[in-house]
Amino acid sequence: MKIFILTLVSSFILSCSSAQKTVDTKNNPENYASTITAQELKEMLYVYASDEMEGRMTGTKGQRMAAEYIRDFYIKEGIKAAPGTDNYYQHIPESYFEGKKNPQATENVIAFIEGAEKPEEVIVLSAHLDHVGVDDNGNVFNGADDDGSGTVAIMQIAQAFQQAVKDGNPPKRSILFLHVTAEEIGLYGSRYYTENPLFPLENTVSNLNIDMIGRIDPDKVDNPEYIYLIGSNKLSQELQDVSTAMNDKYTQLELDYKYDDPNDRNRFYYRSDHYNFAKNNVPVIFYFNGVHEDYHKVTDTPDKIEYNLLAKRSKLIFHTAWELANMENRIKNNVE
Ligand SMILES: [Zn+2]
Repeated sequence: MKIFILTLVSSFILSCSSAQKTVDTKNNPENYASTITAQELKEMLYVYASDEMEGRMTGTKGQRMAAEYIRDFYIKEGIKAAPGTDNYYQHIPESYFEGKKNPQATENVIAFIEGAEKPEEVIVLSAHLDHVGVDDNGNVFNGADDDGSGTVAIMQIAQAFQQAVKDGNPPKRSILFLHVTAEEIGLYGSRYYTENPLFPLENTVSNLNIDMIGRIDPDKVDNPEYIYLIGSNKLSQELQDVSTAMNDKYTQLELDYKYDDPNDRNRFYYRSDHYNFAKNNVPVIFYFNGVHEDYHKVTDTPDKIEYNLLAKRSKLIFHTAWELANMENRIKNNVE
């Protein structure tokens, strides 16, 4: 009898602890972060930055192929088109480029994972899908780092979130995977999105923008485990605090804020797509590896990408997005 009771009690304890364990495992974002791998990033980038894409110049056949590649990926992964798009595409008419030489219609590509508790609040992850085309001699600007690296990072991050959805663990808030076009010719795709947002910008909690995260700045060769973060506390100190906490916990990269110096002549804060969100008071982080000798040259090729580092930086962005999407209250702006 005594033994029987003990067995009952111990099996009760056992069943409790195993149930507890299941829940913990399911909620642990590290399991999902681990689906972001250097190998998959590499496989995707060798296609995305191949000569076949012809340098992805806005409005060209190569750029449309790039958009299709991105759309096909989301279809294959079972990640839905964002509501309000034409089967993932947000079309931008030729007239939007008035005054530009040789204006061409083009499109943003936008996928979506709906939040389970606060679907109206949205985290936007962005990277530009276009690049600068082909030179006068027909050499392709592959743009493996700029911004093939950010493009495949977002797709891998989306896949990680989708795995969580499949496990019955969707994010509380919604995530928008925004692949913007026409960045290289003047940040048009992101501007078009912020002028025609699919969710009101007041409900856009944050924009994490990735532009070039696969290489190492020559200044950093002795300490390559770094990433430059730009603008991360400009509109919301809480955003920077979340970012720092996630890095301390999971990725331990050196977070370098040198480009936040108001006297920095590069003015990177104004030079990529996050700026169109920031000017509308949406807190942003711009993730960036700095410039290098192949920047905007035909030698920005996929063989030069540091894939393990690209995976680690992508994981930092995933964890930051996960926390922003799942934390109790949305992050606050510094001045309301
Ligand atoms: Zn770029």
